[in-house]
Amino acid sequence: MTERKVRVRFAPSPTGPLHIGGVRTALYNYLFAKQQGGEVILRIEDTDSQRFVPGAEDYIIEALTWLGIQFDEGVHKGGAYGPYRQSERKEIYKKYVDQLLNDGLAYLAFDTPAELENKRKEINNFQYDASTRMQMRNSLTLSKEETQALLDAGNQYVVRIKIEPDEDIVVNDLIRGKVVINSSILDDKVLYKSADHLPTYHLANIVDDHLMEVTHVIRGEEWLPSAPLHVLLYRYLGWEDTMPAFAHLPLLLKPEGNGKLSKRDGDRLGFPVFPLEWKDPKSGEISSGYRESGYLPEAVVNFLALLGWNPGNDQEIMSLDELVSHFSLERCSKSGAKFDYEKGKWFNHQYIQKKSDAEIAALFMPVLEEKGIKADSGYVELVVGMMKERVSFVKDLWTQSSFFFVAPTVYDEKTTKKRWKADSAVQLSELVEVLRPVEPFTIEHTEEVAMAWIQEKGYHLGNIMNAFRLALVGEGKGPHMFDIVAALGKEETIRRTQRAIEVLK
Ligand code: GLU
Repeated sequence: MTERKVRVRFAPSPTGPLHIGGVRTALYNYLFAKQQGGEVILRIEDTDSQRFVPGAEDYIIEALTWLGIQFDEGVHKGGAYGPYRQSERKEIYKKYVDQLLNDGLAYLAFDTPAELENKRKEINNFQYDASTRMQMRNSLTLSKEETQALLDAGNQYVVRIKIEPDEDIVVNDLIRGKVVINSSILDDKVLYKSADHLPTYHLANIVDDHLMEVTHVIRGEEWLPSAPLHVLLYRYLGWEDTMPAFAHLPLLLKPEGNGKLSKRDGDRLGFPVFPLEWKDPKSGEISSGYRESGYLPEAVVNFLALLGWNPGNDQEIMSLDELVSHFSLERCSKSGAKFDYEKGKWFNHQYIQKKSDAEIAALFMPVLEEKGIKADSGYVELVVGMMKERVSFVKDLWTQSSFFFVAPTVYDEKTTKKRWKADSAVQLSELVEVLRPVEPFTIEHTEEVAMAWIQEKGYHLGNIMNAFRLALVGEGKGPHMFDIVAALGKEETIRRTQRAIEVLK
């Protein structure tokens, strides 16, 4: 077999917002393809019209774009193998349905929902398969003429795959190794429905992977049970030689590790399970997203990359390009990955530190504007430089640093009791006069002058600094005192100090 160019696809069904586990699947496809010099396709699997949700496709594209996961071909970009939306490929699938029917590898089934329901009542754990199909109303039990008559009369039907019992089907999985499943546990899955002239997921998925020359199917573990059927379909369609390799990714587990991560865990523990905020078009219910919660896309990508894969050493901070160069399917784990939300916050903190003050300031500006504050970008940058170390989210910069933008009007009671001494007012009045002539009003210069004054007077350094901080900040927090002084500037420092003296004396 000649080496084929690596081609992978991310193939979501637009049935709602993309779950964070789906984002990880898209990411791993991207990392694998880029590392192999291959291509990534975005295909929309929308053959189940019952589960179609408007807006879901746009949401998927917006989310992956936000995260920087780029595709070479896809529904939003076009490409040589399109269309990339399955509902637009109806005509393509019909041919393969007919091929399977002609080869006797599939059959028409006319059983009505009521008939199927009766069978389920009659037979415990009913499954439409080799053991039951001859009791049903299908082209295997009806004569050619009867079948044709039903078709001519316009009866609805489905096409089912005919699975021979008692055969061990082997799925070679790049993560799990050889997975063997006996065909007897499989049912004759529906491949096509006459009602909407559409194939089901299974057939459309295989046909498209074949026609789009997909070489590797990388997807969530929940699809592993479908893999034996898919292997059979490749054989039935005569495509075994170009069957893609499979890699089923481990589940994302609840933070406690017991069971699959769900939206309810997010609600319960207060973290998003969707990349972007999503408003359900039917109920209007809003689910929070990583973007709106203040995550940087780089942090989300890095965090997700390590949920189910590791680089083989203890390196944790990796850019998308570094992830591409280190990634390997062999180092993906078989067992589920606990969704450690705190770690996600940690990553965000790290990425905030990595970004320049100017970049973070640009993200902080809208937060300030929302608070009604118009600040000079240079000043915001200065504040960010002092404060970003303390936050995991840009919006938390406000709680940490609002005093840089708004002078205190009240003074924290506890701090005042503890730190405003009998002689604080007098001492701070002196300090104002000491600072007034200082020029330039820099960190070093103001500190030097103030320290010399304290020493000369024999004052208690701690007491002065505590009272000064209370005056400028309104409470006992904040960075180095003279960093604040220099940032606020002479005029504001004096104004705040004098006001505190007025109010607290
Ligand atoms: N449409 C399926 C999904 O929603 C694709 C599964 C696969 O990748 O084969 O995940």
